[in-house]
Amino acid sequence: MALTGPSSHDAARGLQTPLQYLKGVGPHRAKLLSRLGLGTIEDALFFIPARHEDRSRLTPFSSLAEGKAQSCSGTIVGVSPSPRGNSRTPFSVLLQDPTGYLTAVWFNQPYLEKVLRRGQTLLLHGRVARFRGGPLQMQHPDFEIVEEGEDETLHTGRLVPIYRLTEGLTQRPLRTRLWRVVDEHSGKVLESLPDAVRERRRLVLLPQAVRGIHFPQTEAELAAARRRLVFDDFLLLQLGFAIRRQREGRAPGLAMRPAGELVGRLRRSLAYTLTAAQERVWEEIRRDLAVPYAMNRLLQGDVGSGKTIVAAMAILTAVEAGYQTAMMAPTEILAEQHLLTFQQLLPPLGVPVALLTSAIRGRERETLLEGVAGGGVPCLVGTHALIQEGVEFHRLGLAVVDEQHRFGVVQRAMLRAKGGNPHVLVMTATPIPRTLALTLYGDLDVSVIDEMPPGRQSIVTVVRAESKRPPIYAFLRGQIKEGRQVYVVCPLVEESEASDLKAATEMAERLQLEIFSDLTVGLLHGRMGLDEKAAVMRAFKAGEIHILVSTTVIEVGIDVPNASVMLVEHAERFGLSQLHQLRGRVGRGPWKSYCILLESGTRSAEARRRLEAMCETQDGFRIAEVDLELRGPGDFFGTRQSGLPEFRAADLLRDGRVLEEARQEAFAIVAADPDLAQPEHRGLRAALLARWRGKLDLASVG
Ligand code: ADP
Ligand code: MG
Repeated sequence: MALTGPSSHDAARGLQTPLQYLKGVGPHRAKLLSRLGLGTIEDALFFIPARHEDRSRLTPFSSLAEGKAQSCSGTIVGVSPSPRGNSRTPFSVLLQDPTGYLTAVWFNQPYLEKVLRRGQTLLLHGRVARFRGGPLQMQHPDFEIVEEGEDETLHTGRLVPIYRLTEGLTQRPLRTRLWRVVDEHSGKVLESLPDAVRERRRLVLLPQAVRGIHFPQTEAELAAARRRLVFDDFLLLQLGFAIRRQREGRAPGLAMRPAGELVGRLRRSLAYTLTAAQERVWEEIRRDLAVPYAMNRLLQGDVGSGKTIVAAMAILTAVEAGYQTAMMAPTEILAEQHLLTFQQLLPPLGVPVALLTSAIRGRERETLLEGVAGGGVPCLVGTHALIQEGVEFHRLGLAVVDEQHRFGVVQRAMLRAKGGNPHVLVMTATPIPRTLALTLYGDLDVSVIDEMPPGRQSIVTVVRAESKRPPIYAFLRGQIKEGRQVYVVCPLVEESEASDLKAATEMAERLQLEIFSDLTVGLLHGRMGLDEKAAVMRAFKAGEIHILVSTTVIEVGIDVPNASVMLVEHAERFGLSQLHQLRGRVGRGPWKSYCILLESGTRSAEARRRLEAMCETQDGFRIAEVDLELRGPGDFFGTRQSGLPEFRAADLLRDGRVLEEARQEAFAIVAADPDLAQPEHRGLRAALLARWRGKLDLASVG
């Protein structure tokens, strides 16, 4: 079906008109505006204010309360410039209003001396404090200069929008221009939501929301406007997911219904029984595999919750049904870890496992690739490069992908393109808050292992300074005397494997020669050969090594229940989820376990918060939330997630409830009208195409 994009529609109504052609803009201003991402009238309409200031009631100076942010206004009656050349002394002005005086102070802003003059009237917003009983002071207030003869109705006496600025563009003129745009053009914004949805979710009309988000009369109007725009952000995202899921869900897949003999034998070989959560999740996966549609499932579970064994069961099911399987990890080290794990589980059942990384070259590689192409390799472990390099499978039936947040939509599509439409099981070791899971993997089914295997210990977590090293070593010795074992982890220094190696090697030598000369210290790092690594791991597992010094290679997948202490060197350099993973290596046996976070360098406020969070909680979901708060969604997921449309108003941390509502509506809409072909969905369809444009293969919708 042919599509008319939104542009023709809107252009007719002028929303695509460049701002440059507006009265009072011109080429210079247009350039400034474009730095804010504002090219067209539509951009300006949806340029959401960073916040609003309530200037409906300006607080008289005499009533300013300490500590809270308030707005006020006064006239400059005195200016005290900082001594020439000394910008460290603050610049301050004395202001007067009918009730008294207020000092406003700025540090390190010498340009203000050229801007602020006696006699000017200022609008101020900030917090006041009283220093040593002196007069009230407002430090670093936001301010606007009230120009003589200017129409003040936009800037005072109301809820006033405060916008993000760029150099050369100040708040007042920007606000004035945006007011004109909103006033003249907001009425032309097309309503995109079907009435039924709007009414059910109690959402205001889109033109009304656009006006309300800029120049609301009341807080309630602002909240309603925001809610509508947030809903639209989420709805368009989830519609994309819903549509893609419909298509993939309809895509034929491979029905795997073997007798289950291999899985049965695996179960019998285990020293434990699966937890209820593992059983439930396995049942979900088993059912997905059994029907002739391609599985698209995310398996979530905290560190140590036992995802690997579930993945192994899926792999054995595919193998027994006569298919090949691929297990993919984001790094070579992690791939090797998986190999080690699977080598314990699968070959005893007659299922060989092979590893393919870029380190495997030449003849060996050729032979392996031939084997894979000929169908002779039932389980191939490797990095995500498995799907990019010229690896041809004979009958790929299942791909298990570890560490989803580095494995994007695009890669999944590539996997599909390998033919045969294999089932995909994505595992994440980092638990993701539900809002994020729905945002990023909204097109996946989600299974959660929300229960730990029995007998897991809570882990005593402490932060210690360098000066505490001697007592820490004494503590390690005590633990080892009781029969336990210890991990010491050194950080990766600037991504450089060489220095990484050096730090760990030196640490191991020092511990062995100077501190624990009567004990055995082992070393594990990324540069070691696979066999070497396996030998060290075996020795540690067998208890022949008391202290294992390691780079972060042990982050994932190592399992030695007898280890009771995790000592992290330079803990301030590690990311939160990494620390959580590391801690998850201990507390796996019946013994009380400890995680000691040694901070040896200067730490930022963020590093401090990370270490605090580690001490506060062991709940991986809570940890992930803190991580997200600290880093923000973009960084949390890396740039690879840029395959998703951007939000105008939505905030993942704040707006989880609206996301759930939008998701329900989106999936209901697509279920009823998969191609958004019905007249009441025309607006949505246009908005959807505009929002996802170029970012996804949604162009084929319809
Ligand atoms: P994850 O990959 O989810 O972090 P793993 O799969 O590595 O966790 O499992 C952690 C450890 O728990 C492994 O030693 C595994 O053998 C063990 N384990 C898994 N399931 C159970 C269970 N139901 N009971 C006891 N131990 C289990
Ligand atoms: Mg694991």
